[in-house]
Amino acid sequence: GSESHAQAGDTIFPSLPPLYSGHPDIHLRNGIMEATRLAADHEPDAEKAFFVADLSQVYNQHMRWKACLPEVHPFYAVKCNPDPYVIRLLAALGAGFDCASLNEISQVLDVGGIDSSRIIFANPCKAVSFIRNAANKGVDMMTFDNADELYKIARAHPRAKLVVRILTDDSKSLCAFGIKFGAPLHVVPSLLAKAKELNLDVVGVSFHVGSGCYDPSVYTDAIMRARKVFDMAKEVGYDFTLLDVGGGFEDALFEKAAMYLNEAIGSYFADRKEKIKIIAEPGRFYVSKAFKLAAHIIARRAPLPDNANAAATDAPQPAPLKETGAANAEEDADAPKVMYYINDGVYGAFNCILFDHQIIHPYVLSMGGSFHVPSPQTKHLASVWGPTCDSIDCVSPKTMLPAALEVGDWLGFDNMGAYTVCAASRFNGFEVSKVVYTCGGAGEVREVLEGFAREGFGL
Ligand code: PLP
Repeated sequence: GSESHAQAGDTIFPSLPPLYSGHPDIHLRNGIMEATRLAADHEPDAEKAFFVADLSQVYNQHMRWKACLPEVHPFYAVKCNPDPYVIRLLAALGAGFDCASLNEISQVLDVGGIDSSRIIFANPCKAVSFIRNAANKGVDMMTFDNADELYKIARAHPRAKLVVRILTDDSKSLCAFGIKFGAPLHVVPSLLAKAKELNLDVVGVSFHVGSGCYDPSVYTDAIMRARKVFDMAKEVGYDFTLLDVGGGFEDALFEKAAMYLNEAIGSYFADRKEKIKIIAEPGRFYVSKAFKLAAHIIARRAPLPDNANAAATDAPQPAPLKETGAANAEEDADAPKVMYYINDGVYGAFNCILFDHQIIHPYVLSMGGSFHVPSPQTKHLASVWGPTCDSIDCVSPKTMLPAALEVGDWLGFDNMGAYTVCAASRFNGFEVSKVVYTCGGAGEVREVLEGFAREGFGL
């Protein structure tokens, strides 16, 4: 890598894994993952799949956020990727944190130097013990969307600063949450009246348009609803001071989302001045692009023919239907010619296929025993599978890959930072892929991290 990369083995935080400029085999060069040395079979970790995290990408996203949404304070959604370096970097940059559980709250507070007012416990349905423990840790800001939650909070944390989570249109998102969370507007007045009766302090409104929002115009309607709730609150005797616009920010549509949000905030909260604090809970936006995954091809085989299941039984087999040959030929042209098996799958990093509805596009890092991947390539249709013994463990059912690809070569996968490593399991005894860190080309990131390590939060 370039000189501005961290050196292999550099330690910034003693309790964390060292920052590396790259893996012995694969480096990031100008944000592009490249193979530079082939794994030797005798190296114990040489064939393990691994993430490469470029912290400069997280930094760049934060700068982009500040430029486009200067009035909106980001509270990073820890669930999206609770990576310790990401949390430290964002802490040093002044972000807040959206935590879903007590463990996430502890993880953020254990960094040290992060005031509990920088945390929102943004899970509307919490166990009483979690509410009590949040109170003990000084975390006051928390969401609710139902009356039972109010009773629990009145018992376990009567001084909490409550945020009512409302239902908004989430039909334009990859992952909708409305079926599970969010109070419909017609329920809000009675919820607020109940909160008042219980002597609770409700300070504002939150919503979530759904994760992976592909039509950011929905923010306009959501802000309009939030405004209505501010007005409802006045009727009950609350003077709201917090507007939480949730997550859902997609990298490619971010500027558009910011435009809709700024416009809607401008028109529905024209009188806000210093009186209203606006926050958001972005997850995916900060980390998706920052992590790439490298996986090793551990096996290769030919796909079974269509009638293979029948052929595997002992019963006499019907003769192949020759007369449908034309249709079969068409189907065959469309069927993968080869199956590749790699050492991470849907029970690991690629759980994003099942839980986050992602479609995965592998590319070649090293090929045919060489990291110089010639171009153009003769390609053929292939399928890519994970390492477990389960057949649901398919990473890509159909993808074009070079015909010369073989066991021992490496495949690369971009945009692997959001909802991947955090939900990976050890099913079948496989390890969760480790993260190798780099500061990319951005010296600033290194300075921020080093300054933070030296001086804490004076940054
Ligand atoms: N806030 C809450 C309450 C969430 O449930 C989520 C995602 O599940 C997020 C924020 C982060 O959403 P995104 O990654 O789409 O920004």
